[in-house]
Amino acid sequence: MISVAEALEVVLANTRPLSAEVFPLPDALGRILAEDIIADSDLPPFDRAQMDGYAVRASDVANAPANLRVIGESAAGAGWHHEMKAGEAVRIMTGAPVPQGADAVQQVELTREVDGASTVEILEAVNSGRSIVRRGQEVKAGETVLRAGEEINAQLIATLASFGYGRVKVGTRPRVAVMATGSELVDVRQKPGRDQIRDSNNYTIEAYARLAGATVERLPLAGDNTELLKKQMATAIERCDVLVTSGGVSMGVYDLTKGAFKELGAEIFFERVALKPGKPTVFGRIGSTLVFGLPGNPVSVAVTFNLFARPAIRAMQGARERTLPEEIAVMTRNVKAAKDRDSYLPAVLQTVDNGMLTAEPLKWGGSSDFVAFARANGLIVVPAGASLAADQPVKCLRLPA
Ligand code: AMP
Ligand code: MG
Repeated sequence: MISVAEALEVVLANTRPLSAEVFPLPDALGRILAEDIIADSDLPPFDRAQMDGYAVRASDVANAPANLRVIGESAAGAGWHHEMKAGEAVRIMTGAPVPQGADAVQQVELTREVDGASTVEILEAVNSGRSIVRRGQEVKAGETVLRAGEEINAQLIATLASFGYGRVKVGTRPRVAVMATGSELVDVRQKPGRDQIRDSNNYTIEAYARLAGATVERLPLAGDNTELLKKQMATAIERCDVLVTSGGVSMGVYDLTKGAFKELGAEIFFERVALKPGKPTVFGRIGSTLVFGLPGNPVSVAVTFNLFARPAIRAMQGARERTLPEEIAVMTRNVKAAKDRDSYLPAVLQTVDNGMLTAEPLKWGGSSDFVAFARANGLIVVPAGASLAADQPVKCLRLPA
């Protein structure tokens, strides 16, 4: 049995990034950047007015009110490109270049037109540099502004657009096949007969795999029949980067998943992890396809997928953030770990009135209780053998949302 940390290392050591592909910028949202983003120009590219008003020399208006001669207009996209002299002002708009000779912009609310528009009265003094963003003040040409491995969220889009990345190199989405084992399973559209239940794991895995950036192919239910398992697995391996199965990895007579992997020539890297829930998790490779044999219980599936399969899917896309985000939260009650295994307890993480993040372990019936699990948004990490007391800070992981 290996530790959770060792198992994660083994997964990452055996995961190779897929090649990158190029997409139009709008379609790159949510994908992983596969190139460094370099500024092709200073930002702003010229001294830029931050306000509508008048470009002035601060020294001219130090004893405001002061009258200045308006000698031109600088608009966004149509600047006034001459030298502005003492006693002069240029009407200017937000986003327009500040003329040579001016060193401040006074906002229009603190000015008054006199003599039609040929003279402006500046009502208040203004400090040199006021309402001007200097060329290159935000970014210098040649600077690396974003790095490969970042997830392209909406906040990044302006940066990509502004530096001319109309097409962006992103990590290819891994193709994930999911397959449920178990003769008791029927599909979601069917009414379970005697001794049967509906398959939920395929849908859970599909959901988490998509949240991790994968495309997903659901294989037909394979029952507990080694030949059928092998047949489905073989088709998946031909066209997918990752195969995730659920069920059939415990010690029962009908737990056939590992055997089927092995008969297909799998190299098995681990098959037991010191983890609760999720001890019988299997990880291996068949050809170039990574295979994850997750346990059958629905909550074990959610935990083990996110601890092991998610990092592989993220790493294949070149993502820098592979594991679930960590948080420190304060326990609301006492909990105990298993003696020899780290426990990952489903929990509700929430910020309470004083701004503190608390972790409330779910009241649940164990790893089959997916209805209780529906409320969880995090996992509390309880090291093997440890007891955690109420009011103590603990490490938690955020479940993907
Ligand atoms: P197993 O690991 O195959 O022994 O399954 C453990 C438990 O999880 C059993 O109660 C199964 O009925 C249940 N289970 C297995 N696969 C699924 C699935 N795809 N959807 C829902 N429950 C499942
Ligand atoms: Mg089973």
